[in-house]
Amino acid sequence: MDQVQTHLVPVDELDRLITGIFERAGCDAVEAARISHHLIGANLTGHDSHGVIRVPRYVQWLGEGKVLAGQTPDVVAESATHVVLDGKFGFGQTIGPIAVDLGIAKAKASGMCIVALRNSGHIGRIGDWAERAAAEGLVSIHFVNVSQGEIVAPFGGVDRRFSTNPMCVGVPALDGQDMLLLDFATSLVAEGKVLVASNGGKALPAGSLIAPDGMHSTDPETLYGKLVPSGPRDPANGAGALRTFGDHKGSGIAFMCEILAGVLTGGGTSGPLTGGKRSRIGNGMFSIYLDPAHFGAEGFARQAAEYAAYVKSSRPSEPGGEVLVPGEREARTRRERLEGGIPLQLETWNALLSCAAN
Ligand code: NAD
Repeated sequence: MDQVQTHLVPVDELDRLITGIFERAGCDAVEAARISHHLIGANLTGHDSHGVIRVPRYVQWLGEGKVLAGQTPDVVAESATHVVLDGKFGFGQTIGPIAVDLGIAKAKASGMCIVALRNSGHIGRIGDWAERAAAEGLVSIHFVNVSQGEIVAPFGGVDRRFSTNPMCVGVPALDGQDMLLLDFATSLVAEGKVLVASNGGKALPAGSLIAPDGMHSTDPETLYGKLVPSGPRDPANGAGALRTFGDHKGSGIAFMCEILAGVLTGGGTSGPLTGGKRSRIGNGMFSIYLDPAHFGAEGFARQAAEYAAYVKSSRPSEPGGEVLVPGEREARTRRERLEGGIPLQLETWNALLSCAAN
């Protein structure tokens, strides 16, 4: 069932609702507004899987002490060109900007900087962080994992061994143009898309999930177990797994996300689960920030934009089709939704209202 009822919410109204929920849940006004801003930012770019649909889960985690309000990261190690940070399970929307800003400052001074972040609370849509760096004229590359969050089977396997491990590359834009932004999960679909499908939303693409017997599936119960309408969706209850995209290639990128964002940051890999149970998850993010000004690439943003235009000029493979470059779809959706509001599934909207009422 692809056509579900939606409720169109103006951005300002949604922002007031979400900020209020986090203030009542125990965040100060600034942090509550920041969390709201980043979650709504994901909806604005069309990534509803990482938007306000997450609010009930975040509030639950805050109540359970799995994510903490008001944290700042500790510096574990540092040089002119790298910093290792421990996010101490603070909200990703709070830890993320601090980590990125450190990377930006060091990259501007030295040409490049690596930021290895461990133990961040859920850090949301990774494109946010590349956009922050691009706004300062920097290229950035991010590899992400979720410690204790295994949910994806490796290519050729059935059992969960990876998290949805996104990777992201952001390239600054010329003034007034959209930046180039590649940002995707290495699972065939992000977990949030299974969440959306489980609420009657857009059906999953074929082969998104794998059951314990090795059969491919599009049934969200493969991941969440028996579904109760409006009930919680917990991947701990399902016996199956998500699959990686691109066969051995996507699986290989997911593997390296674990090595870089899990092992090298010190935050840990997505599995094995301690005591065999999912408990507290944390994002690890291994980020590389590069300042084109230090690379002698004259007119870098202009040349990148010219190349993007050349790529787009490839003849469409289907009548009426077009070639999109990375980030183009998100930029378009943002313009549309800023103007017309954010369409939320009724299930998501009702869950937010009941969160606000509690
Ligand atoms: P997706 O499958 O929608 O892919 C998005 C990427 O593909 C973008 O770069 C987009 O510009 C590009 N794209 C889309 N359509 C295109 C087309 N027709 N032609 C060319 N390029 C096109 O993204 P996803 O895998 O569903 O990921 C969704 C979000 O989830 C991402 O923002 C990611 O960072 C986030 N995520 C976060 C975590 C976490 O632990 N924090 C985990 C997984 C995913």
